[in-house]
Amino acid sequence: MEIVTRFPPSPTGYLHIGGARTALYSWLHARQSDGRFVLRIEDTDRERSTDESIQAILDGMDWLGLDYDDGPHYQTRRLSRYQEVIQQLLDSGDAYHCFCSKERLDEMREGQRAKGLKPKYDGRCRHDAKALEGGQESDPVVRFKNPETGAVVIKDLIKGSISVANEELDDLVIARPDGMPTYNLCVVVDDMDMGITHVIRGDDHINNTPRQMNILSALGVDLPAYAHVPMILGEDGKRLSKRHGAVGVMQYRDDGYLPDALLNYLVRLGWSHGDQELFSREELLKYFRIEDVNRSASTFNPEKLLWVNHEHMKAMEPATLVDAAVWHYDQQGINIAEHSNAGDVVTLIRERASTLKELVDQSLFFFREIETYDEAAIKKHIREASSGLLKQVQQGLEALSDWAAEDIHHIVQGVVDKNDVGFGKVAQPIRIAVTGSTQSPSIDQTLALMGREQAVQRIAAAITVFSEVS
Ligand code: GLU
Repeated sequence: MEIVTRFPPSPTGYLHIGGARTALYSWLHARQSDGRFVLRIEDTDRERSTDESIQAILDGMDWLGLDYDDGPHYQTRRLSRYQEVIQQLLDSGDAYHCFCSKERLDEMREGQRAKGLKPKYDGRCRHDAKALEGGQESDPVVRFKNPETGAVVIKDLIKGSISVANEELDDLVIARPDGMPTYNLCVVVDDMDMGITHVIRGDDHINNTPRQMNILSALGVDLPAYAHVPMILGEDGKRLSKRHGAVGVMQYRDDGYLPDALLNYLVRLGWSHGDQELFSREELLKYFRIEDVNRSASTFNPEKLLWVNHEHMKAMEPATLVDAAVWHYDQQGINIAEHSNAGDVVTLIRERASTLKELVDQSLFFFREIETYDEAAIKKHIREASSGLLKQVQQGLEALSDWAAEDIHHIVQGVVDKNDVGFGKVAQPIRIAVTGSTQSPSIDQTLALMGREQAVQRIAAAITVFSEVS
């Protein structure tokens, strides 16, 4: 049997962390068996759905590399199909028109509450044809005729078996007075038409499941398997929201996260494989099992995400890391493809950079001229003697026959020894001269990578400036 999963976001906001994880679980489940993954945009709530949100979802899926075989389908383009199915249910006697007025329904619910009962449609129009005739001035809704006895059993792949008595379930409205289908009906028709075999979704939808299963059964189709994924909570135990920094996934792109690192972090939020923390996409496809997803909620931990990102960056081939950082270099006006030392630069810098953004920020001085020197650094490290010491370094560097970190180190050490000063008295002015600040990897490696021409030219330029400020 071909496995078909789907991701059906409502375009009412960003593609957020929780949605991305559900999409990932569905994607993995389809991909690991050569199945099909469907993207469907549930946009029937026209007031809350926006084009920006649709775009954010498509961009997010694209950035995360969660490709789909089918879609994006839009529910608003399938209205006639939903109406066709509503008619089919009316014709087969599995649905009926309900003319009950809002006032009557309110009164009925009030009465039920007063008696301590759970509010539920009393089935007047289902049972009493007279009531139906009597109220025909207003446009009716269509209600699904939910079975009155027995129980629905959800054999949930994550939560186990859940039984819900039909008595508990209302006769759900499936079409509004204007003929518009309601949410649950659209989901059911789509899952049926799209041949969905596995419904993987957040457990906030679990109350809809027995209703949807009953409608599917009335339509005579095989039920899909269900897997309800527990929520992601913030560190305060509350449902994840903007307060926790849980914005759209594209924000994580902007902040310098790798899509594979974000996916790695998300998959582990609620699933594990022994005590392995780091997974490549290939490993996820190999090891992930939807049945192994935890039953309880998990907690979002931004520090751990940062750690996972750093580990991924450290494990990458230099050229791949440069490729991953292209967008961030572009943002800084740097065409990184023009720099043949980029692979070596990112290899040097990544030890101290946990995100692509930090990597790019900390390596900018390699790829563009230094316009200003960090003022605090000048104040702290530049003294009257600095220019003279730098001059000696410059001469030593110009005379070097091999331009390698070790030889550069000898020059710097030589100047330190000759003048009988601390290492920092020489190294920090060099660092400020060639990077603009005091943050860089070791000075010999930095200079080695920068190349003699640029290093010497920057030191020479700094000598002039430093002699004026000291
Ligand atoms: N549109 C629903 C949501 O965004 C998903 C419904 C489902 O997966 O069945 O929460």
